[in-house]
Amino acid sequence: MKISSDITIFGGGIAGLWLLNRLRQQGYDAVLFETNALGCGQTSRSQGIIHGGMKYALQGVLTNDATAMADMPALWRQCLQGTGEIDLSQVKILSPQHYLWASNKLTAKLGGFLASAALSSRVAALDKKNYPEVFNNTSFRGEVYALDEIVLDVPALVRELAKPYADVIFKIDTMREDDLHLDATGKLDYITLRSGDKEMQLSAQHFVFTAGEGNEVIIKKLNQPTLAMQRRPLHMVMVKTPFKLPLYAHCVGFGARPRITVTTHYMHDGGAVWYLGGLLSETGVEKTTDQQIAAAREELTSLFPWLDFSKAEFATFRIDRAEPLQKSGLKPETSFCSTYGNVTIGWPTKLALAPKLAAEIMSVIPAKAGTSPEIPTVVGMTWPHAPFATPIWDELLCN
Ligand SMILES: Cc1cc2nc3c(=O)[nH]c(=O)nc-3n(C[C@H](O)[C@H](O)[C@H](O)COP(=O)(O)OP(=O)(O)OC[C@H]3O[C@@H](n4cnc5c(N)ncnc54)[C@H](O)[C@@H]3O)c2cc1C
Repeated sequence: MKISSDITIFGGGIAGLWLLNRLRQQGYDAVLFETNALGCGQTSRSQGIIHGGMKYALQGVLTNDATAMADMPALWRQCLQGTGEIDLSQVKILSPQHYLWASNKLTAKLGGFLASAALSSRVAALDKKNYPEVFNNTSFRGEVYALDEIVLDVPALVRELAKPYADVIFKIDTMREDDLHLDATGKLDYITLRSGDKEMQLSAQHFVFTAGEGNEVIIKKLNQPTLAMQRRPLHMVMVKTPFKLPLYAHCVGFGARPRITVTTHYMHDGGAVWYLGGLLSETGVEKTTDQQIAAAREELTSLFPWLDFSKAEFATFRIDRAEPLQKSGLKPETSFCSTYGNVTIGWPTKLALAPKLAAEIMSVIPAKAGTSPEIPTVVGMTWPHAPFATPIWDELLCN
């Protein structure tokens, strides 16, 4: 079967789904193909924090990352209120604020910076009576700040983004380099797509790859000297807590990155999970599962000596962040996309930056070509639709 489409997106994570919404709103006949399940990559493993960049300012300096992300919470808030570029009013907000806490010693170092005019709209020192419940203990010695950042239920976000355009979101088998066919000028002519015993040759006015680490297949095929991907590995920890004390916070350590970042998620069976990222997940990359769980227990016991983790159930998993290659090997400061002929490749580098990436991609996509109704009518009759990913906390810890 030979099919042509207007704009074809590969990858059903936050980047592809946000872009699909924006393109269809503008009248493009965009379609999306996913090799696995919607949100199954980095998106559903993310902590759901809509960063305003504060975690990059912990050394007392406003970095480029912090500046690039400053507008994101306001943009998302509008969407969550149903007045923004995409209606996300049905997405559950896990916490309207993310918090930052520091020991007394570090508060002295950070206090002036956090109170500075540049940050006054983004950080607020809290009175003790407004601390999250978990810090209401006489053993807690430190300060808590509220950040202008939201924490979202990411599986609900993925479902809401897919809902309006479910008829043009399809499942395909893993793509190989030799499924991509270039013409004599090096332009991407068509892609052979398979799903079980079905096969089609898909051409498009423009192809967009927002496939996370799956972008590697098109990078290899195009073989452009300026385009390469890096992976930054993480070893994340989940704790099924025996107590009901939700926490959404970064703990400030001595370095540039949070010592630990905690978010709370709810499982299918009603149980709550503390999901632990930050430095713990970076320094844990070389550790075995047992070593990483031991490190997490030690860290939690030292930060929350008044809580009992002896009966908590722990699990870990490994995941790579997929991003454009940086000379330094460090993390990129903002979203990235690059176009070669009729192919655009992009990484948001943060869930929060998906709207920015979508706007960047739309600025390089050619004007609407006309309609190509074949995809929903012809393909949709026979081709399977992509399922949703199971939340990682249900996969690892749900009874
Ligand atoms: C542990 C962790 C925590 C994070 N926490 C946060 C956070 O709190 N806040 C924040 O802003 N950011 C966070 N991030 C970063 C954020 O999750 C990612 O930047 C973002 O989700 C990337 O989205 P994406 O759509 O580009 O990629 P992905 O979510 O990885 O999606 C790519 C999709 O493409 C599919 N695919 C692969 N190959 C192909 C192909 N050839 N054709 C079609 N489909 C294909 C995959 O199956 C996958 O579904 C976190 C990242 C990690 C790893």
